[in-house]
Amino acid sequence: WRRWLRAMAVLRDVEESFATPTERLQRVVNSLAVEMFAGLASEDASKVRMLLTCVDSLPDVSEEGIYYAVDIGGTGFRFLKVQLGAGSTIINQKIERQPVKKELMKGTSEDFFNSIASTLKNFIEREGDEGRALGFTFSFPIGQDVAQCLNEALERNGLNLKVNALMNNTVGTLALGHYYDEDTIAAVIIGAGTNACYIERNEAITKCQCLLTNSGQTVVNVEWGSFCPPQIPLTPYDICFHNETPNYYDQGFEKMISGMYLGEIARLVFHKMAQESDVFGTDVDGLAIPFILSTPCLAAICEDDSLDLKEVGSILEEHLKIHNVPLKTRRLVQRVCDIITQRAARLAAAGIVAILQKLGRDGTLCGTTRVRTMTGVPKRSVIAIEGGLYQEYSVFREYLNEAVLEILGEEIAATVVLKVVEEGSGLGAALIAAAYSSTR
Ligand code: ADP
Repeated sequence: WRRWLRAMAVLRDVEESFATPTERLQRVVNSLAVEMFAGLASEDASKVRMLLTCVDSLPDVSEEGIYYAVDIGGTGFRFLKVQLGAGSTIINQKIERQPVKKELMKGTSEDFFNSIASTLKNFIEREGDEGRALGFTFSFPIGQDVAQCLNEALERNGLNLKVNALMNNTVGTLALGHYYDEDTIAAVIIGAGTNACYIERNEAITKCQCLLTNSGQTVVNVEWGSFCPPQIPLTPYDICFHNETPNYYDQGFEKMISGMYLGEIARLVFHKMAQESDVFGTDVDGLAIPFILSTPCLAAICEDDSLDLKEVGSILEEHLKIHNVPLKTRRLVQRVCDIITQRAARLAAAGIVAILQKLGRDGTLCGTTRVRTMTGVPKRSVIAIEGGLYQEYSVFREYLNEAVLEILGEEIAATVVLKVVEEGSGLGAALIAAAYSSTR
């Protein structure tokens, strides 16, 4: 039993270091909002880069016709066709998905873009219409002009189509969110990675005084993955991932929130428990393998509501090769996964409220000016959300929604709508391509 106590000590430590009480979360909101202000003032002044995108107005005028988009995400490629009818309504859409081919990620960039171009060509040939323009969603920094790389590959493959709108996934999601509901002011991605963008007034972007856009506003890509909340520092389970690289303490939000890492954080906690005690038995080699536990597995563990936690037992057997785990340990495993999920979801909620605060829509006076309608009621704010974690994992979604309510209070929370926008990053890219093909 002494060994069991040691496992419980690890649990207590995790409970403490992962805790996100409301008051601390509110301070995370304030810190991120301050960083956002700083990032708009100067290029190197902030932990968040606040990148200005080329998108100044979201699609509302566009021409009828067929448009395509390619969306390169962390876990898959998507090829999309959108048909716009009168009034820019989407009258038809088609999406083909392809999992990321590992060998392609290791090859040359020419092979990579050639493969995208040839898959797109096949897709277009099957659809029988070449389309008017191509939107391209690419969310990774690679130090190359990726639109040019894809255009060259399209030409090599004999396609006349050209990329006329390049964006990251948040911007596409914002575009589709705005298409469905004009009160959409921001978009958040919580999938393999996490990030957000929002619509900012040009006067607030002091690092770029001569911004001249027709709409007077610009979509700002927050790049919040790099934000490290000082109130909730990374734990040894988080910083382990990069302890041999210079960005040891970097990418706080990304590590604590995104699907890429949550399963691995749980694995590291279990590994520590197995080192300190025998709660997992003696055959625990599986726990030493990095990234063996995926985030969907962590989700399935949390969502197991059977009395004997049968699903938890099966996941431990199947994925970690740990057999006959007693119920007491299965409960411990579920508790750890719950703590990790809760911290992730609540931090994402804090991120969303920070954007509202930056825009003066959170009910406090810390933002620019408090945004109210003529009747004095705070304006309705819609946040478009996309990504497997929020869409597929109900426990995560509930924790996030609950935390937004907790931080904002009922009156203001009633003006905020968190709206899932399916396939926003790809469909939104096609919409922006359409808007830019007709008006620019
Ligand atoms: P991408 O980020 O590659 O564009 P998605 O937005 O679809 O793709 O997110 C995929 C990520 O979402 C996966 O890497 C995984 O971490 C997470 N995810 C997918 N399904 C689930 C699930 N059922 N439960 C928890 N997380 C999930």
